[in-house]
Amino acid sequence: MKKISPYLRLLVQQDGYINKGDYIYKEQDGYLITILESVNSQARQAIVSFYNAVESEAASHSLVDFVQQYKKQYKLTAVSLTPNGICLAFYDPKKITAFLPVLLPEMKALGLKGTGTCCRCGKPLDAVGQVALLGNCVAHVHTDCFQEAVSAFTSELQIQQYEPKHYMLGTMGAFLGGLVGAIPWLIVFLLGYVSGWLGIAIAWGANKGYQIAGGKNGKGKAPILILMVVLSVFVSQFMGYWIGIAISGWEGSILDIPYAIFATLFIDSEFASQYLRDLLMSLLFSGFGIWWVFRTVKLENPAKNLHYEILNDQKTF
Ligand SMILES: [Zn+2]
Repeated sequence: MKKISPYLRLLVQQDGYINKGDYIYKEQDGYLITILESVNSQARQAIVSFYNAVESEAASHSLVDFVQQYKKQYKLTAVSLTPNGICLAFYDPKKITAFLPVLLPEMKALGLKGTGTCCRCGKPLDAVGQVALLGNCVAHVHTDCFQEAVSAFTSELQIQQYEPKHYMLGTMGAFLGGLVGAIPWLIVFLLGYVSGWLGIAIAWGANKGYQIAGGKNGKGKAPILILMVVLSVFVSQFMGYWIGIAISGWEGSILDIPYAIFATLFIDSEFASQYLRDLLMSLLFSGFGIWWVFRTVKLENPAKNLHYEILNDQKTF
């Protein structure tokens, strides 16, 4: 597991957060707050746990509305409800500690139950209560309720394992999406302008195609996307030259053009260097596009520390 960044270490030293290696947490004003970081440390998630039940649905939704008003002021990038609390994503880590004194009184005013209440059943904690990590947030929970949460999580994991992987569909989707994304590139290229920068759209198209085709969000996604984007760039550039030559007064079968392109690449160094320049530029920008796609993905789904653990470093009830 990745260790926390210097900023979170500072929170541990100055604000009394407890360092758990890949996340930190503490109790403040009647709520347990967990802070974790995305894989690339660009975004931080602060999760304030409370008993988020059906009967408090109205209150938890007004809490989200409340938070929305402050999105700009505190540079919040996302807010969402989780089964055990509210999750806030920040770019600027300093804003987390600044926002908590705004958020926590509102949670209290809305009657959302924090510490001292089991986050699973909503009943007060008794002698067998625990502070536990439930997926991605620290919360108070009964020992029995914790066990229940663990078995629910385990069966959910098993379901996920049986879920068919859609890497094949994703690969096809990414390739087709990359070609669709190459259309702006192709048009600009055929008009005779510099089009390499539109390689970004190829990466964007490939990612969209992957999603639409139902590609699995697993470890295979990155290599598939990279491969399909590179392939799309090669194919679209080749098509671009093919069409370009065909419409500029080619006398003969258009099916002879691919051979002519290959042959010219080997004998005409000026043509070859132009071809390579175009290719490299498109690859460069599509590479930038891929980087951007993955950066966005990471910001949307910061670190998922999906594990369950009883924490014994705080008083039990
Ligand atoms: Zn309980």
